[in-house]
Parts: sequence; structure tokens; C-alpha cells
Amino acid sequence: MSVLVFVEAINNQYKKAAFEAVCYGAKVAEMTQGDCVVVTNGSADVAGELGKYGANKVLSFQSDNMHDTAFVTQAIAKAYEQCGAKQLVLCDNSRGKSIAGRLAIKLGAGVVTGAESLPSTDGGMTVQRGVFSGKALATYAYSSDNNIISISRNATPIVESGSAVTAESLDISGISAATQLVEVKRVEGTIPLPEAELVVSAGRGMKGPENWGIIDDLADVIGATTACSRPVSDTGWRPHHEHVGQTGIAIKPNLYIAIGISGAIQHLAGVNSSKTIVVINKDPEAPFFKAADYGVVGDLFDVVPRLTESIKKFKSA
Ligand SMILES: Cc1cc2nc3c(=O)[nH]c(=O)nc-3n(C[C@H](O)[C@H](O)[C@H](O)COP(=O)(O)OP(=O)(O)OC[C@H]3O[C@@H](n4cnc5c(N)ncnc54)[C@H](O)[C@@H]3O)c2cc1C
Repeated sequence: MSVLVFVEAINNQYKKAAFEAVCYGAKVAEMTQGDCVVVTNGSADVAGELGKYGANKVLSFQSDNMHDTAFVTQAIAKAYEQCGAKQLVLCDNSRGKSIAGRLAIKLGAGVVTGAESLPSTDGGMTVQRGVFSGKALATYAYSSDNNIISISRNATPIVESGSAVTAESLDISGISAATQLVEVKRVEGTIPLPEAELVVSAGRGMKGPENWGIIDDLADVIGATTACSRPVSDTGWRPHHEHVGQTGIAIKPNLYIAIGISGAIQHLAGVNSSKTIVVINKDPEAPFFKAADYGVVGDLFDVVPRLTESIKKFKSA
């Protein structure tokens, strides 16, 4: 029984989440004593490299219709049927979620989105995902023959466990798209918050928008995307698309540096799944310290420029 993993190449390159999905699929295949088959739109040479992350077989297809999720779903369904899979693993991004829903209907499959860890296969397959803004974990048991899992970022570590394979071509003739891509306008510059691995975020402790230079400097030196607490965007100090939290964007970067943010529960709801949290706050009783991996008690106007300078020195050494 195979486990099929779908990963998307953007400009013929894979992001970290794609490697996580392949590693996750390889682990599920190992647990269910099956093969890990990857279906992807990467070119054969790039796609074949996914063997290093545990893919036993890679099926690759090229198309100008990758914008059309219904088209991509049909290509995955074809690969699913071809390799006799019973499980599909996807990234829990907007693409993965919309494919999961479509395929669940097509295959009559059970679907769990946002899995936080590997499934358990003792007495049937169960998967856990966070609920209530990550404050609790819910366990879901599949009662279907076909199972679909979309995985959250950091659900599994990336481990190189194999070697490159020769990608086979997936025949997608007969599959057509119902829409045509007319034009794409990309925003160049910083990585959008939902995709950012490194985030520098600041709150009302900054006192005013005129002080944001030190946040931008720190973000620049580590290549991070900037974010903020809600009052900061509500008062117009920063644009609304930077607002993270319960009513803003929920993020899961590898590193979240919170500067002059108290750590109210509504803020934490959107950031507490970050892998490493660093808090800089002058109040040792600030609630954020309870969620922090590293904390600095101090005046941000003193600490942040010194941190930026130290990183600059470290990088140039
Ligand atoms: C329904 C609802 C939804 C909400 N959704 C969100 C949400 O999505 N996101 C969100 O962020 N908030 C949200 N809020 C607001 C939330 O409750 C908090 O009010 C908000 O997060 C506080 O923002 P803050 O930490 O920037 O400001 P404050 O609470 O004012 O905290 C400022 C912090 O800066 C520190 N500080 C001050 N000066 C310095 C200095 N010189 N050096 C170092 N530290 C300093 C202080 O010690 C303090 O801890 C929501 C509230 C409600 C009711």
C-alpha cells in the first residue's frame, strides 16, 4: 500500500514545507509498510532529488495550468490511482487545503487538515491537530479506506534518509483546465508573513511609528519579515497585513522575536506554534515570557540595537 505525497515546485524549486511533507510521507509509509510515492510538477532532475528525503518513487508532470487547483487535483487523482495509494499527504497551505477538500469528495476519503505530528497506526489511523487557537489538541480517527492528511509546518523534522531517484513522467494527457492564467503581478521584496521562517514583531512598547527603524534594521540583518500586535496596526503605526494573532494572521515561523509586546492571549493565539520564541520586554512579569524559549528583560531601545550590532559582527567574522 503506497502513501502518495503531493509537493509543488515554485519556479522549479521546493520550499522547506515540501521537504517536510516528503519526510512525513516517508515516515507514514514506513509505519504502514508501504512505499512513499511523490507526485510533483518539478522537472525530472529537481524532482528526483526528493528521493533523498525518503521518496521511493517520484512522478513528475509539467504544465502551464498549475494555477488551476481543479486541474492539479485531477493530476494527483491520476497518480493516486496509478500507484494504488490509500493515503495522501499534502502541505497545509491554501493549495493543500483546497486540493484536500476536492480529493476527499472524489475519493470518498476522510480528511484531516493541519496535522501537528505523525499519525498513530495502533488499531487504525489517528491524527492530532491543534484546536481553539492551538490551546488544545484534538485526535481524529479515520473510518474511511482512503485517508488525506495535510500537515502543519514543523510537523516533522527534515531528515535526509535516502538518495536521489530517477523521476518518472506522469501522463496528464486528457486532463484540462477550466481557467486560463492571464497575468501574474508578484510583490517583490520581503517574504510574506505566512511563509516567513524568521519574523521580527513589535508592539505598543515601541511608543510610536517613528521608532520602527530599529525593528527594520534587525529584520534586515537576519533576513526576517516584520509583524506587529493588533493595537499597533489599529492605530496605523504599521499596515494591517502585519497584524498577527487571533484576529490577524496565524504564523508558525522557525523564529519569532517579540519586542515590546505584552503577550496577551489573543496575540499568542496566532504565534505560539512558532518553533523558537524570543521575547524582549522591560517588564519581567510580562505574560509573553511564559511562552518564550529565550527572554531578555530590558529596555528594547537599548537591547534591540545592541542585538543587531552583535549579529552584524557575528556575520562579518
Ligand atoms: C477580540 C479581541 C481580539 C484580539 N486580537 C488580537 C490579535 O489578533 N493580535 C494582537 O496582537 N492583539 C489582539 N487583541 C488585543 C490584545 O488583547 C492586546 O491588547 C494586544 O495584543 C496588546 O498589544 P501590545 O502587547 O503591543 O501592547 P501592550 O499590552 O500595551 O504591551 C506593551 C508591552 O511593551 C512593553 N514595553 C513598554 N515599553 C518597553 C520598552 N521600552 N522596552 C521593552 N518593553 C517595553 C510593556 O512592558 C508591555 O508588556 C485582541 C483583543 C480582543 C478583545
